[in-house]
Amino acid sequence: MSGVLPYARQEIDASDVEAVSSALTDPFLSTGPAVARFESDLAAWTGGHPSVVVTSGTAALHTAYAAAGVGPGQQVVVPPLTFVATAAAAALLGAEVVFADVDEATGCLDPAAAEAALTERTSVVASVDYAGAPADMDALRAVADRAGALLLEDAAHSIGTTWRGRPVGSLADLTTLSFFATKNLTTAEGGAVVSTSPDLHRAAARFRNHGLVRDPAEQRWPDEGPWHQEVHSLGLNYRLPDVLCTLGSSQLRRLAGFVARRAEISARYDAALAEVAEVRTPTRPADAEVAWHLYPARVPEDARRPLFEHLRAAGIGVQVNYVPAYWHPVFADLGYQRGQCPVAERWYRQEISLPLFVGLTDDDVDRVCDLVRAYFAG
Ligand SMILES: *Cc1c(COP(=O)(O)O)cnc(C)c1O
Repeated sequence: MSGVLPYARQEIDASDVEAVSSALTDPFLSTGPAVARFESDLAAWTGGHPSVVVTSGTAALHTAYAAAGVGPGQQVVVPPLTFVATAAAAALLGAEVVFADVDEATGCLDPAAAEAALTERTSVVASVDYAGAPADMDALRAVADRAGALLLEDAAHSIGTTWRGRPVGSLADLTTLSFFATKNLTTAEGGAVVSTSPDLHRAAARFRNHGLVRDPAEQRWPDEGPWHQEVHSLGLNYRLPDVLCTLGSSQLRRLAGFVARRAEISARYDAALAEVAEVRTPTRPADAEVAWHLYPARVPEDARRPLFEHLRAAGIGVQVNYVPAYWHPVFADLGYQRGQCPVAERWYRQEISLPLFVGLTDDDVDRVCDLVRAYFAG
């Protein structure tokens, strides 16, 4: 086939349309029973750990850092090979972001680099499941424990991934998910915070809803009247509406199939590109069953931009994930220097994400690989 191929595309079917359209005429449009239902459906994927669904993956990060008590005077360790939100949400709460370099093979936070970044002010070590594959979570757990810090996993890419037999959601104190349109599971916009501790879960649930305390047993002035609710700590409105939760539950029924198809496509790229000497295909971590979100190929630095332009000109929606977070002017203006995480910077200069989504056909994959092969055959 020919024509324009997007880089990512949501997978919406008639069952999603049916679920959403019936939710639209339910009495609840905002918070109703579908919210708790989606949260309980998610628990089947997170090792039973409860979640708080919110309006985006960015809101999930903001909520998770807030639940962790992140604020001024504290430091949060973050890998730079990520979408800026992983760092920005901590910075917005007044914490200092300390960037620690990534592993050369996986692009995920390197435990030795995280360890070297610790100080007595470190309150959270945040890892990112780059492309869907987790870092060495046992090593990061030990690093976080040594610092007395919480471990956070930005799992925007990786719902459905398991590591050493344990699902994403059970590997860190706080795990954040994104349900943005292009992610492995979508609610159009949406996200969730999964926590393994009841205190963190309660704090996240409160932050999502203005910090409101409704239970009289917990109120300072419970005799005020039956209408009374009060705020003990500041929060925001990050409530994910019923209608979008309905879409999430509907999508979850097909997630296992999404994960399987993504794995097939990823393996097909691997096989077709193995013979192209200039292309480095993604490392397959031995310890993980990965729900692949991206197909991050690496090519020589001087070939990356011309290959990108060549594929875009041929109608192939390639991407680059990601410009190192501290290159963004907002961080550069705070004094973060280029060169501080050389492995992540090399990743960025070599990386090109090929299209990966459930509706991609084998023929689409072959066409992309033919174009890559032809480019290097020159
Ligand atoms: C998409 C993404 C986010 C933000 O999620 P949104 O739902 O778009 O706000 C955060 N971190 C990573 C790694 C992402 O890919």
